[in-house]
Order: sequence, then C-alpha cells, then structure tokens
Amino acid sequence: MSKKGKVYLVGAGPGDPELITVKGKRLLGRAEVVVYDYLANKKLLAHVPPTAVLIYAGKKGGSTHTHSQTEINQMLVDHALGGKTVVRLKGGDPFIFGRGGEEIEELSAHGVPFEVVPGVTSASAAATYAGVPITHRAFTSSVAFITGHEDPNKKESRIAWDKLATGVGTLVFYMGIKNLPNIVANLIKHGRDPQTPVAVVRWASTPEQRSVVGTLASISEVVRQAGITPPALVVVGEVVSLREVINWYEKRPLFGKKILVTRSREQASELVQSLEDLGADCLEGSTIALAEPPDWAPLDQALDKIATYNWLLFTSPNAVNFFFKRLAALGLDSRRLHGPQIAVVGTATAEALQNYGIKADLLPARFTAEGLAEALLAQGVSGRKILLPRALKAREVLPESLRAAGAEVDIAPVYQNTRPPMADEIRQALERQEVDLITFTSSSTASNLFALLNWPAEELARRLAGVKIAAIGPITAATVEKAGLKVDIQPETHTIPEMVSAIAAYYL
Ligand code: SAH
Repeated sequence: MSKKGKVYLVGAGPGDPELITVKGKRLLGRAEVVVYDYLANKKLLAHVPPTAVLIYAGKKGGSTHTHSQTEINQMLVDHALGGKTVVRLKGGDPFIFGRGGEEIEELSAHGVPFEVVPGVTSASAAATYAGVPITHRAFTSSVAFITGHEDPNKKESRIAWDKLATGVGTLVFYMGIKNLPNIVANLIKHGRDPQTPVAVVRWASTPEQRSVVGTLASISEVVRQAGITPPALVVVGEVVSLREVINWYEKRPLFGKKILVTRSREQASELVQSLEDLGADCLEGSTIALAEPPDWAPLDQALDKIATYNWLLFTSPNAVNFFFKRLAALGLDSRRLHGPQIAVVGTATAEALQNYGIKADLLPARFTAEGLAEALLAQGVSGRKILLPRALKAREVLPESLRAAGAEVDIAPVYQNTRPPMADEIRQALERQEVDLITFTSSSTASNLFALLNWPAEELARRLAGVKIAAIGPITAATVEKAGLKVDIQPETHTIPEMVSAIAAYYL
C-alpha cells in the first residue's frame, strides 16, 4: 500500500517569526510540501527542509489572488493523496478569518487525514504590540473579533451592530481599513460613545509595524492622513487608553531603524539577533564568505612538529574553527596541542577555543593584533618559535613585530575570505536610501562592501550621506575613512556586544 500523506493546517502567527508555536515549527521542519499565504512571514520558511516544495498561495487582500481557493484546496488534496506531508501555513490562526474551515471540509470530503495547529491571531498580537491589553478588569470583560470586510451596501448585515456597539467592551476588526468610515458610523449610530479610543495597527509585530490612535469620531481621518493601508487591525475600546503606559514594542531603542549587517553569513546571526532584540530591522548583506585555504601544506607541516613551537596564536574565531576542522580531518584532536602555550586576540576567540576544550594562556588587555604583540613582547619572544594560523590575507603587524623582536614566526593559512556576489536587495535598499545604519565588524567587511557596490568615491559619499556607520575598532574605522566616509559609532572595547551597546547608546 502506498504511504498516505497528511495535511497540517498550521497557524504561522501574526508576523513576528518567533510567535509561531513550537509544534508549528517542528512540523515545518518535517514538511515535504509547504503551501503558504501572503500574511505568513517568509522567514518561517527557513525551518523547512531544503528539499521541500514551496508553493506560494498568494491571497494578498485587494490584489488578484495568485491561486483561487478552489485551486488551493485541490493542491492540498493532490499532494496529500500523493503521499506527501503537507504544511498549509496561514497567517495568524487558521480558523480566525482564515478560511481554514473550508480547507479542512474539502480535505475531509476527500478522505485526507489532517491536523490543525492554532496560531497567535493578529488581533491579539496587534493589540499587545501596540501596547493595548485586549481585556482589562477595570475597563472591559468582553472582546469580539469581527470582520470589517462586509460590503456596506449589503441590505442585511450579518453583523449585529446594535448588539455589538454597546454590548461588547473591546471590538477588533480584521480587514476593516477600506470600510473604516462605515464601521465607525455603524458603531456610533448604535450608541457607542464617539469619544471611545481607537487604535489602528498595520503590519503588527513586524519591524514595519505602524500604529495610530484616535477616537471613533476622528480615526477615519487619522488613518487617511497617515496613509495606513492593509493589512491592519482596528481596535476599539477603552483599553486603548492604556497604550500610553504599556506601549513597549515601538519604544525599543532601535525600533524603526533599518540596519545593514555586513558580516559573513556564518557570523551574522549573533549580531543580527542582538540588534533585532533592540527593535532593529536587520538586512543581512554578507560581504564575506569563508573558504578553505588554497593549500593546507603549511599547516600540516607545522602540525607535524607542533611540539617544537613555544606559542600558538589565534587572532580570530574563524582561525580557531578552521584550524580545528583541519585537525579533525587529519584524524587528530586537541591533545595534539599540549606543547605550545596558546594566545588569543580577544574574548570571542578565547570562547571559540574553549569550545574545543582549550583555555587560552594569554589574552591581552587590548583586543587588537597590536595589543597581542605587545603582550607577547612583554613576555620576551627572542629565539621563541611561534605558529600563527590565520587568514590567507591578513595584516602583517603581528608577525612583523614579533620577528623584529627576534622570534621565529611560521604563518599557516587556515581559511580565506572570499567575496560573495552582491544581493540586489542590498544595493536597492542603499539606492533607495532605506538604510539607517551599516555595521562593519572587520576591515574586509567594509572594503568588500565598497568593492561590491563599485561606486566612485564621490557617488559613494553622496549615496551614503544619510547613513550612519558603526565600526568595531580602529582598523575597520580607518578602512571606512579611507573610502571617504565618516564613522559615527565605535565601541571602546572591540567586541560585538560592546558594539551593539554603542549603537543602542547612540540612538538613545
Ligand atoms: N487568520 C488571520 C487573519 C486573516 S484575515 C489571523 O488570525 O490573524 C486578514 C486580516 O488579518 C488583514 O486584513 C488584517 O486585518 C489582519 N492581519 C493579519 N496579520 C496582520 C498584521 N501583522 N498586522 C495587522 N493586521 C493583520
């Protein structure tokens, strides 16, 4: 008998990709086919196995649907009957104005097995992320979710305006932007106080969130003037007044700031996560990709005689990771390194080393190559043998100053920086002047970005005139300045957490 497929109807949550349920995320990780909607955050597709088939079902309000509901239903049935594990990913909660019921009826009619995973509905998230508790003992003990999509010219409304207007404390309207004047008129006509506070929240729980407040009497005009378009929710009720105290999401230090992070893909996540936690909207533009060195021979030879070295130096976490990858590929492990003392350039490198069970013997006070050289020279390096596994291309200050002091330094390239192609998205964001800040965490992130953009100096200066620049340390800053740009933010200690703090302080 052939394997029978199954459809999981999964709520994607309102926008913030971390508001999906643990179960929803796990099912995405097992999906063979994913059919997703316009309102489901595309970032969630990162949880899907690379082999899965992704189908965009469209459904952007107001525009022509990419697939009709009948086609979507048919697709789900076909894939499931074909034996596939299908995740049908819908914005918010699938059973709240999501046509989830209709899709399940269709599956059931065809004998397709299914499960439904609820999601955080956008009403709940929009209120919360706009600083409005949807219920509150002092204000209301009831809440209603209402579609605002109903045709105002329909003779008989299915919405009991007379009962809702005064019978329910908090009213949340989905799909209500176009119809807002009509919604407001109905509520007032049926007795709701025109001074009742109202909040309208667009793209709730995403970096693009925008919210406006008014009263039933004023909100239509407020929304029109602010140019708020769907998707947005309308929250009506006294609870909206609590926003003054509770509004937290939009008050985070980096909310509304678009930050271009130029690190390598492997390393961007820590920085991106910290910036996003502070409210930033990060654009990841890797300007560096890491690759193996063209030749392992220098390292392999050094490893053969590792016991003859007095010092082993690591100047970056990348050097540590590539070094140990090679060690493992040769069938060796950290016991091989018992001979030499080990020095690192900074705490991040020390931590990378700790991951392999090794504690650095020397960590200089200043986290730069110069700082490391100084610390080593203070110990006396004349006649000492030093191994330096590092990037193929790197600054020469460290080996040069050690050699000048009489040390014998062997350099072994363990990785090289390559330049990945420039993502169109990044170039366009810069051209459209959408970026508020660029972060550079090494000299090559900066020189690579400028090389990739390939704008003449004067054009570069003009296009980036409104963009702030954060550089992790003086070497990186010098590269930025050499390109004719100004560095606005530079942390005193050259670490990622310090750089994040400096950025937050700058915008405070
Ligand atoms: N099933 C979804 C609702 C789908 S109906 C849920 O549970 O949230 C589509 C409407 O939902 C939009 O017109 C808008 O009113 C609302 N909506 C969905 N996501 C939203 C968001 N992030 N911000 C504001 N409104 C949103």
